[in-house]
Amino acid sequence: MDPFAPKGDPRPLSGQTCGYKPATATTDCGRPGVWHVMWDAQLDNSVTCAEHMQLIQERWVYADRHPMTADCTMPGALWVYVNDKCYVPQTDLAAYERVITEAVHDMAEQAGIPLHLLDR
Ligand SMILES: [Zn+2]
Ligand SMILES: [Zn+2]
Repeated sequence: MDPFAPKGDPRPLSGQTCGYKPATATTDCGRPGVWHVMWDAQLDNSVTCAEHMQLIQERWVYADRHPMTADCTMPGALWVYVNDKCYVPQTDLAAYERVITEAVHDMAEQAGIPLHLLDR
């Protein structure tokens, strides 16, 4: 016997509050989200409170989860498995640019090139 309950249909995103809806209820749980859960490779994901995370762990199989951050469920946010959080790509690009700039400065310093020559 399959010990896990079927996952059900993809849920509409509920913002940053718990989207768990008991079978007998007409509305979502609605408490502040604590966990962001990725269900499968089709990027079906949902937000859940601590209590319902426990229920999920008892009854369902999910692909990944991470603590909620401000970027979670933002339009265009990316699920980053290795970093255990969501990134809105603009944020990511700014961080990437800083890393590249630092690396270039380090190389210039090691090569003895004055940093002001690198300024745009
Ligand atoms: Zn809940
Ligand atoms: Zn997230």
